This record gives sequence, C-alpha cells and structure tokens, in this order.
Amino acid sequence: MPRVKTYNIPVRTETKKREPKKSVQNTIPSAEVKQVVILGGGFGGVRAALDLSKWAPSAKIVLVDRNKFHSYTADYYELSAALFVPKEPLGREEYLELASSVALPFKDIFSGRANLKFIQSEVQDVDFKRKRVLLKEGHLHYDYLVIALGSETNFCAIPHLNERGLEIKTTYDALNIRSTLDEAFETSGKNDVVSIVIGGGGFTGCEFAGELGVVIKKLAKLYNHPAKNVSVTVLEGSGALLGRAGAWFSEKAKRRLEKLGVKVELESFITDVKKKEVILKDGRVVKFSLLIWTAGVRPNCFLEKLKGLKLYKNNCIIVDSNLQAVGRENVFVIGDLAYFLSENKTPLPMTAQVAMEQGHYVARFIASKFIGKSWPEYRPKKERFIVPLGSKYALADLGFIKISGFLPWLLKRVVGFKYFASILPFGKAFLVWREGIKISTNND
Ligand SMILES: Cc1cc2nc3c(=O)[nH]c(=O)nc-3n(C[C@H](O)[C@H](O)[C@H](O)COP(=O)(O)OP(=O)(O)OC[C@H]3O[C@@H](n4cnc5c(N)ncnc54)[C@H](O)[C@@H]3O)c2cc1C
Repeated sequence: MPRVKTYNIPVRTETKKREPKKSVQNTIPSAEVKQVVILGGGFGGVRAALDLSKWAPSAKIVLVDRNKFHSYTADYYELSAALFVPKEPLGREEYLELASSVALPFKDIFSGRANLKFIQSEVQDVDFKRKRVLLKEGHLHYDYLVIALGSETNFCAIPHLNERGLEIKTTYDALNIRSTLDEAFETSGKNDVVSIVIGGGGFTGCEFAGELGVVIKKLAKLYNHPAKNVSVTVLEGSGALLGRAGAWFSEKAKRRLEKLGVKVELESFITDVKKKEVILKDGRVVKFSLLIWTAGVRPNCFLEKLKGLKLYKNNCIIVDSNLQAVGRENVFVIGDLAYFLSENKTPLPMTAQVAMEQGHYVARFIASKFIGKSWPEYRPKKERFIVPLGSKYALADLGFIKISGFLPWLLKRVVGFKYFASILPFGKAFLVWREGIKISTNND
C-alpha cells in the first residue's frame, strides 16, 4: 500500500463524517434549458466548463470528476522531489501543503457561477441512446456531452512493471513517489547505494530526472547518507531524449542532465522487472532502489466499457473536425482521449495545451449551436513547450525560437501563474502559485 493515501486532498479542517451521497437521478432540466454534462475536470474539462458558463449563460452545465480537485500535472516533477525530511510517514500538514501547489479545489474554481454545478463521482458508463451518464450514485441526463476523462499510465505489458515501479500520473502518485524516496533512504545502510531509476526519457522523465539531480545529494545529506552512494539514472528505449522535440532539445537535455550528475542511458529498452533489478533488451541488468515509470500513457481504460464509439486501434476516440465523436451528434471528446490528426497527419500530442485548446473550442461550438449559428472547424495551434531541467534552467520551443537557460524557466513560472489566474480568483491563484515557488526555491 502506498504510504500517503490516507489523507484527503485538499481538506484543511478535521475530517468530517461522510454524509451519505445523494442520488443525482433527478437532475433532468426543463425542455428549454439545455444540460451540458462534462465528464472529467482536467485541463480540457475545466476550460470547457468555464468558457461555456460564460458563453452559454442559459445552459445548465454539470461537471463530474472522481476527485474534489483539479490536478496541475505540470509541477508534479517538483512535488515528487520536494526537499525536506518529513515525519514518519509523510505528516498531514506537509502532505496538505505539498498537495495545495497542484491540487486546486473545484469549489474554488467554480465559485460564483450559478449555471455550473460540480458533482464528485465516478463515471461508470454512458447510454448514448437514452442520453444518460451512469455515475456511481445515480445517473445524469445530457443534451450535450463532453468526454474529457484523460489518460492513464501504460505499463506496456512489461512483466511486473506495475507492481515494482511507481507511476507519476496523479497527485497521489507524485506524493507517493516523494514518500517512497524517504523510505529508500530510511531502509538503506550507509554503504548501500540508493539508486533511483527513471524508465523513460520523454518530457516527464527528463523533468523529474533534472529535479532529482539537483535534490538527491541534498536529501542524502539530510539523511546522513554518503553522497557518493546515491545515483539517478534515466533509461530511454530509443536513441534520444525528449522524442518528438528533435535533436537540438535531445542533445541539450542530455548534456544538462549529465551536468547534474544524472546517468543517461539511451537504447536501453526495459523488458522485465525483477525484485530491485530491471532487465534490458540487450541483457544488461540495472539495479534500483526506486523505479519510476514515465514512458507510457494510454487513454483512460473507461473507454473499454463504452460501447458505440469509433476508436482508433482500440485506443483513442476518433473525432470529426468539430471534435464530435464520429457518428454521435452532440457528443464531444477532448484532450488525451481524442484522436485528431494534425496538418502533417500525425495525432496531436497528449498535452495540457491541446486539451485546453479543445475545451475552449468545444465551448464555443456548443454555445454557437444554442443560438443557431455555425462555428468554424477546429484547427490545432502549433505546439509550444517548456521543459524544466533542474534548478532555474529550462529548454523551450516558442514556435519562432528555441531557447535554453534561465529565461525559459522564468517563462514557465509566468505561464503557470497565467493558468492559475485563468481558472481561479486572483488571490487564490497567487497563493497556489506561491506554494509552487516555495517548493521550487527550497529544492534549489
Ligand atoms: C507528470 C506529468 C507532467 C505533465 N506535464 C505537462 C506539461 O508540462 N505541459 C503539458 O502541456 N502537458 C503536461 N502533461 C500532460 C497533461 O497533463 C495531459 O495531456 C492533460 O492533463 C490532458 O488533459 P485532459 O483534460 O484530457 O485529461 P486530464 O487532465 O487527465 O483530466 C482527466 C480528469 O478526469 C477524471 N477522471 C478520469 N476517469 C474518471 C472517471 N471514471 N470518473 C470520474 N472522473 C474521472 C480525472 O480525475 C481527471 O481530473 C503532463 C502529464 C503528466 C502525467
């Protein structure tokens, strides 16, 4: 069992007795009021909900998510490597403080929006014929449905990887990694090597490796563990880091990580995971104290249950040029779940940027339908990204220029604040942003 899942993010008061969940069956609006149901409160779902609430004030909007909070994944790399020695296990206060930099309560995001309702529940099925969503506690009628349930870790059928490796997909995962890092030091003798192995040298793997490269020796010092007996290794199956980013980024990232003391092993494809050892395709064996798997994502397994949607290779949902599920009018799919080809005929990457852009588009499209107007087809924007790589250093592709160093790091902070301010009241956005800055500064 992960050591940290006992606390409920992000409730700051004493845990109250749970009230019995109310059934949501009777939420059928009157014939004139259209109900838009949004499944999933991630980057895509939240953007769609907020924009619809503004542009379609006469509609009733319901957003359903299994959590009480929206997760800001872009800072997980800092959270999971946050520098401090916690009480054993991770103390409640530390836990809540860490979580509050990435877990943003929906009640804060949706406060003051009369036409927007949040329901915390597990989505179980959709009956497209009867236009009903089946939740754990009942069902919901919809006139328009937006599916934004995101993706999950893909362990790529590598034997024992899901039991012996840790994933970094949710806020709980990030906190779990942080907690298990402590465990690795606590359970190792001074002469043992605490070896952190990161499976995958994509964006998430490199960000996390960079942060750990900065933090790990300091953490060792806090645990009185000899610095020479700690190591961070990235195992990347292909011949380059940061896959789709291109050679300039791959080489810069490799140099930066190595400068921070991280071992980068390319062409190192993991085929099996034994107890404390990974086996590579070429027969090499790499020992680990902690294995973090960052190399695979796949659409939410919820898709497997849904009947009546056209899937691409049993994978994402194929959408048309208005992001409607093919053959299903008024059912929209956005973010990591949607299969949409870009101009150069490659699927759009699974990023927050794409999810938000699509949430925004779908809100516009639905709001236009309400007033009987048409809206142009969806056109994805050119991808831009920033990859932080430890301390105040990052690489960025801004579309017209590629840059590295302090400036892109600063830009990432500005982008982060802009995002928080776009979904939260200004004061709350500042507090969340400041929590992130605190962790970041402490890690440096
Ligand atoms: C560690 C990490 C770092 C990342 N960093 C970046 C970055 O820096 N920049 C970037 O652009 N992208 C980044 N990404 C990718 C980005 O997070 C995703 O592409 C984005 O979150 C997809 O948005 P979405 O709306 O499709 O789904 P999500 O944001 O994943 O939201 C899905 C929501 O659905 C809810 N849900 C799922 N299943 C159910 C169910 N059955 N019932 C009820 N609720 C459910 C979940 O709780 C979640 O809130 C990162 C991802 C990870 C894992």
